[in-house]
Amino acid sequence: MDIVLLGPPGSGKGTQGALLADRIGIPRVSTGDLLRSAVSRGTALGRRAQSCMDQGLLVPDDVIIGLIEEVLGLAEAANGVMMDGFPRTLAQAEAVDRALEAQGRRVDHVLNIDVPDRELFRRLSGRAREQGRSDDTPEAIRKRLAVYGEQTAPLVQYYGDRGVLREVRGTGNIDTIAARIAAVLGI
Ligand code: ADP
Repeated sequence: MDIVLLGPPGSGKGTQGALLADRIGIPRVSTGDLLRSAVSRGTALGRRAQSCMDQGLLVPDDVIIGLIEEVLGLAEAANGVMMDGFPRTLAQAEAVDRALEAQGRRVDHVLNIDVPDRELFRRLSGRAREQGRSDDTPEAIRKRLAVYGEQTAPLVQYYGDRGVLREVRGTGNIDTIAARIAAVLGI
Protein backbone atom coordinates (compact mmCIF):
# COMPACT_ATOMS: atom_id res chain seq x y z
CA MET A 1 0.00 0.00 0.00
CA ASP A 2 1.36 3.44 -0.95
CA ILE A 3 0.24 6.29 1.28
CA VAL A 4 1.03 10.01 1.12
CA LEU A 5 0.84 12.07 4.31
CA LEU A 6 -0.23 15.57 3.46
CA GLY A 7 -0.76 18.30 6.03
CA PRO A 8 1.18 21.35 7.13
CA PRO A 9 4.32 21.42 9.29
CA GLY A 10 3.30 20.60 12.85
CA SER A 11 0.22 18.61 11.83
CA GLY A 12 1.66 15.40 13.27
CA LYS A 13 2.62 13.67 10.03
CA GLY A 14 5.81 12.24 11.55
CA THR A 15 4.15 10.84 14.67
CA GLN A 16 1.09 9.44 12.94
CA GLY A 17 3.11 8.27 9.95
CA ALA A 18 5.39 6.18 12.14
CA LEU A 19 2.45 4.58 14.00
CA LEU A 20 0.58 3.84 10.82
CA ALA A 21 3.62 2.50 8.96
CA ASP A 22 4.23 0.03 11.82
CA ARG A 23 0.63 -1.03 11.84
CA ILE A 24 0.50 -1.68 8.11
CA GLY A 25 4.04 -3.05 7.92
CA ILE A 26 5.52 -0.68 5.36
CA PRO A 27 8.54 1.59 5.76
CA ARG A 28 8.05 5.28 6.50
CA VAL A 29 10.21 7.54 4.38
CA SER A 30 10.63 11.15 5.45
CA THR A 31 12.43 13.52 3.08
CA GLY A 32 12.93 15.90 6.03
CA ASP A 33 14.76 13.17 7.99
CA LEU A 34 16.83 12.18 4.94
CA LEU A 35 17.79 15.81 4.36
CA ARG A 36 18.65 16.46 8.03
CA SER A 37 20.85 13.37 8.03
CA ALA A 38 22.59 14.56 4.85
CA VAL A 39 23.16 17.99 6.43
CA SER A 40 24.66 16.51 9.58
CA ARG A 41 26.94 14.23 7.54
CA GLY A 42 27.97 17.16 5.34
CA THR A 43 27.24 15.37 2.05
CA ALA A 44 26.78 17.15 -1.29
CA LEU A 45 23.00 16.78 -0.87
CA GLY A 46 23.20 18.25 2.62
CA ARG A 47 25.25 21.21 1.42
CA ARG A 48 22.69 21.96 -1.29
CA ALA A 49 19.74 21.63 1.09
CA GLN A 50 20.85 23.37 4.25
CA SER A 51 20.27 27.04 3.51
CA CYS A 52 16.78 26.41 2.06
CA MET A 53 15.85 24.35 5.10
CA ASP A 54 17.11 26.93 7.57
CA GLN A 55 15.04 29.62 5.87
CA GLY A 56 11.90 27.49 5.81
CA LEU A 57 11.98 27.27 2.01
CA LEU A 58 11.55 24.14 -0.05
CA VAL A 59 14.66 22.42 -1.32
CA PRO A 60 14.61 22.66 -5.16
CA ASP A 61 12.55 20.08 -7.02
CA ASP A 62 15.46 18.70 -9.05
CA VAL A 63 17.24 17.72 -5.82
CA ILE A 64 14.13 16.21 -4.25
CA ILE A 65 12.96 14.41 -7.37
CA GLY A 66 16.30 12.57 -7.54
CA LEU A 67 15.85 11.56 -3.91
CA ILE A 68 12.26 10.41 -4.53
CA GLU A 69 13.32 8.25 -7.49
CA GLU A 70 16.07 6.73 -5.39
CA VAL A 71 13.95 5.83 -2.36
CA LEU A 72 10.96 4.55 -4.32
CA GLY A 73 13.31 2.25 -6.23
CA LEU A 74 14.73 0.58 -3.11
CA ALA A 75 13.98 -3.09 -2.48
CA GLU A 76 12.62 -2.21 0.99
CA ALA A 77 10.03 -0.01 -0.69
CA ALA A 78 8.74 -2.71 -3.02
CA ASN A 79 5.60 -3.45 -0.98
CA GLY A 80 4.59 0.12 -0.37
CA VAL A 81 5.79 3.25 1.37
CA MET A 82 4.46 5.75 3.88
CA MET A 83 5.50 9.05 2.29
CA ASP A 84 6.07 11.70 4.95
CA GLY A 85 6.95 15.18 3.75
CA PHE A 86 6.78 14.44 0.06
CA PRO A 87 5.46 15.12 -2.48
CA ARG A 88 5.32 18.82 -1.60
CA THR A 89 4.90 20.32 -5.09
CA LEU A 90 2.99 19.31 -8.22
CA ALA A 91 6.27 18.43 -9.98
CA GLN A 92 7.14 16.11 -7.08
CA ALA A 93 3.67 14.55 -7.17
CA GLU A 94 4.15 13.80 -10.86
CA ALA A 95 7.57 12.28 -10.10
CA VAL A 96 5.99 10.02 -7.46
CA ASP A 97 3.33 8.96 -9.97
CA ARG A 98 5.95 8.12 -12.60
CA ALA A 99 8.14 6.17 -10.18
CA LEU A 100 5.20 4.13 -8.87
CA GLU A 101 3.65 3.62 -12.27
CA ALA A 102 6.91 2.12 -13.56
CA GLN A 103 6.33 -0.61 -10.96
CA GLY A 104 2.62 -1.03 -11.64
CA ARG A 105 1.70 0.86 -8.46
CA ARG A 106 -0.17 4.04 -7.65
CA VAL A 107 -0.84 6.24 -4.66
CA ASP A 108 -3.62 4.40 -2.80
CA HIS A 109 -4.47 6.93 -0.07
CA VAL A 110 -3.58 10.52 0.70
CA LEU A 111 -4.18 11.56 4.28
CA ASN A 112 -4.76 15.25 4.74
CA ILE A 113 -4.30 16.06 8.41
CA ASP A 114 -6.12 19.24 9.25
CA VAL A 115 -4.98 21.44 12.16
CA PRO A 116 -5.77 25.15 12.62
CA ASP A 117 -2.84 27.55 11.97
CA ARG A 118 -2.78 28.89 15.50
CA GLU A 119 -2.38 25.40 16.92
CA LEU A 120 0.35 24.60 14.35
CA PHE A 121 2.34 27.64 15.38
CA ARG A 122 1.98 26.71 19.04
CA ARG A 123 3.15 23.13 18.44
CA LEU A 124 6.11 24.15 16.29
CA SER A 125 7.26 26.76 18.80
CA GLY A 126 7.07 24.13 21.57
CA ARG A 127 9.11 21.71 19.49
CA ALA A 128 11.70 24.42 18.91
CA ARG A 129 12.25 24.66 22.64
CA GLU A 130 12.47 20.87 23.06
CA GLN A 131 14.50 19.83 20.03
CA GLY A 132 16.28 22.97 18.89
CA ARG A 133 15.68 22.32 15.21
CA SER A 134 17.37 25.09 13.23
CA ASP A 135 14.21 25.74 11.16
CA ASP A 136 11.96 26.16 14.19
CA THR A 137 12.70 29.87 14.65
CA PRO A 138 9.55 32.05 14.55
CA GLU A 139 10.46 33.48 11.11
CA ALA A 140 11.21 30.05 9.62
CA ILE A 141 7.98 28.63 11.10
CA ARG A 142 5.93 31.43 9.55
CA LYS A 143 7.71 30.89 6.24
CA ARG A 144 7.15 27.11 6.31
CA LEU A 145 3.42 27.57 6.93
CA ALA A 146 3.19 30.13 4.09
CA VAL A 147 5.16 27.90 1.71
CA TYR A 148 2.84 25.03 2.58
CA GLY A 149 -0.20 27.11 1.65
CA GLU A 150 1.33 28.24 -1.63
CA GLN A 151 3.15 25.18 -2.92
CA THR A 152 1.79 22.10 -1.18
CA ALA A 153 -1.88 22.85 -0.50
CA PRO A 154 -2.67 22.63 -4.27
CA LEU A 155 -1.99 18.89 -3.96
CA VAL A 156 -5.25 18.58 -2.03
CA GLN A 157 -7.10 19.26 -5.26
CA TYR A 158 -4.71 17.12 -7.34
CA TYR A 159 -5.44 14.06 -5.21
CA GLY A 160 -9.04 15.03 -4.52
CA ASP A 161 -9.73 14.90 -8.26
CA ARG A 162 -8.53 11.32 -8.28
CA GLY A 163 -10.67 10.24 -5.37
CA VAL A 164 -7.79 9.18 -3.10
CA LEU A 165 -7.94 12.06 -0.62
CA ARG A 166 -8.91 11.19 2.99
CA GLU A 167 -9.46 14.11 5.36
CA VAL A 168 -8.65 13.67 9.05
CA ARG A 169 -9.00 16.13 11.90
CA GLY A 170 -5.56 16.38 13.53
CA THR A 171 -6.46 17.81 16.93
CA GLY A 172 -6.82 15.79 20.13
CA ASN A 173 -4.47 13.21 21.58
CA ILE A 174 -2.21 10.92 19.59
CA ASP A 175 -4.36 7.79 20.07
CA THR A 176 -7.57 9.56 19.11
CA ILE A 177 -6.03 10.82 15.88
CA ALA A 178 -4.52 7.39 15.12
CA ALA A 179 -7.98 5.85 15.56
CA ARG A 180 -9.53 8.42 13.21
CA ILE A 181 -6.89 7.62 10.60
CA ALA A 182 -7.45 3.87 10.92
CA ALA A 183 -11.20 4.42 10.53
CA VAL A 184 -10.85 6.58 7.46
CA LEU A 185 -8.56 3.98 5.84
CA GLY A 186 -10.82 1.13 6.91
CA ILE A 187 -8.03 -0.81 8.63
P1 ADP B 1 8.00 20.08 8.45
O1 ADP B 1 6.89 19.30 7.83
O2 ADP B 1 7.81 20.31 9.91
O3 ADP B 1 8.36 21.33 7.70
P2 ADP B 1 10.05 18.29 7.37
O4 ADP B 1 11.03 17.51 8.18
O5 ADP B 1 9.09 17.51 6.53
O6 ADP B 1 9.30 19.19 8.43
O7 ADP B 1 10.83 19.30 6.41
C1 ADP B 1 11.80 20.19 6.89
C2 ADP B 1 12.41 20.99 5.72
O8 ADP B 1 13.06 20.09 4.81
C3 ADP B 1 11.41 21.74 4.84
O9 ADP B 1 11.10 23.01 5.36
C4 ADP B 1 12.18 21.83 3.52
O10 ADP B 1 13.18 22.84 3.56
C5 ADP B 1 12.88 20.49 3.47
N1 ADP B 1 12.07 19.47 2.77
C6 ADP B 1 11.60 18.30 3.31
N2 ADP B 1 10.90 17.60 2.41
C7 ADP B 1 10.91 18.35 1.26
C8 ADP B 1 10.35 18.18 -0.03
N3 ADP B 1 9.61 17.11 -0.35
N4 ADP B 1 10.57 19.16 -0.96
C9 ADP B 1 11.29 20.23 -0.67
N5 ADP B 1 11.86 20.47 0.53
C10 ADP B 1 11.67 19.53 1.49
